[in-house]
Amino acid sequence: MSKPIYVTQPVLPELKDFIPYLEQIWENKILTNGGPLHQQLEQELCKYLCVDYISLFNNGTIALITALQALNLEEGEVITTPYTFVATAHSIVWNKFTPVFVDIDPITSNIDVQQVGQAITEKTVAILPVHCYGIPCDVEGLQVLATKHKLKLIYDAAHAFGVEYNGQSLLNYGDLSTISFHATKVFNTFEGGAVVCHSLEMKQRIDQLKNFGIVDETSVNDISLNGKLSEIHAALGLLQLKTMNQTLQNRGKVDDYYRELLANIEGIRCIERLKVEKDNYAYFPIVVSEPYPLSRNELFEKFKQHDVFARKYFYPLMNELSVYKSYKSDTPNAKLLSEQVLCLPMYPDLTDNDIQKIVQIIKSETAL
Ligand SMILES: *Cc1c(COP(=O)(O)O)cnc(C)c1O
Repeated sequence: MSKPIYVTQPVLPELKDFIPYLEQIWENKILTNGGPLHQQLEQELCKYLCVDYISLFNNGTIALITALQALNLEEGEVITTPYTFVATAHSIVWNKFTPVFVDIDPITSNIDVQQVGQAITEKTVAILPVHCYGIPCDVEGLQVLATKHKLKLIYDAAHAFGVEYNGQSLLNYGDLSTISFHATKVFNTFEGGAVVCHSLEMKQRIDQLKNFGIVDETSVNDISLNGKLSEIHAALGLLQLKTMNQTLQNRGKVDDYYRELLANIEGIRCIERLKVEKDNYAYFPIVVSEPYPLSRNELFEKFKQHDVFARKYFYPLMNELSVYKSYKSDTPNAKLLSEQVLCLPMYPDLTDNDIQKIVQIIKSETAL
């Protein structure tokens, strides 16, 4: 029996390299609340990502929720994409805003700027796009809209760790960007996340919000959550950063090899990555359509029979989930993509043999 191939496999350093960090934590007896490793990780991430200010979080969802809270917006509507992970939409409703789901560009899978423009009303307070698969949104177009209508622009950049676009970190665009360091993401700290911002004042506000809104021993200024990242998580992050360039390089090789082997199969389209200075190859989505003989769902099942576990990412759409039924909207491009997309296994240690096996499963159908 061959080993199953999962859609992702976390990057983990050698266990022996983690032990000295644990020893340091045991020695310090500081486990959380912005300890020394937490501070060091913030500094090193600012350097690595080329951003001015970063606040670490216990996960990407609390980072998103807190980012939306930090902007002190009036109640109202937040325009977002339905083609995303549930956390994006949840963060809007958790803050008591109304999500407005608009359609995507079927080629990039990112929110369609024209559709955003048409959805803006006097109730709109912010735009929350997602750099889907780590592919940059039309950041210039979105900023023009945000500026013109005096809206806040917050990017769910959960997939965008390390991406550089137009000579700078993609995380520098918009008012705030949030990242996820979940085990399935490009950079992981077991669980974790961050908010990137542009001023010390905003960082201090975010740091307060992620600590219950506590200002000092006797005053609490906001009703907010506990979003702190522990020293153990920060330690893993410090270790992961050391090999990050190699990790991204290996992901790039997997991406290249898939594209080479999947070229010219009728009905299989690899979603193109935008040309950027530095890419992170966060996912490998393909679009399955006619004349390919199987539907996306049939191909998904066929993979399973061969112990290959691809993922329907993103399906179903947010505006098709029962919990979001009161925010229904018509987004035909997103609907079609969600019915045709399949994310193939993508991680830096995926072997050439595994990639060949995966592509062979796809190709065997066309040879019949
Ligand atoms: C993973 C993810 C999140 C949430 O991050 P967690 O760290 O898992 O809480 C948010 N948005 C998107 C688009 C994601 O993929």
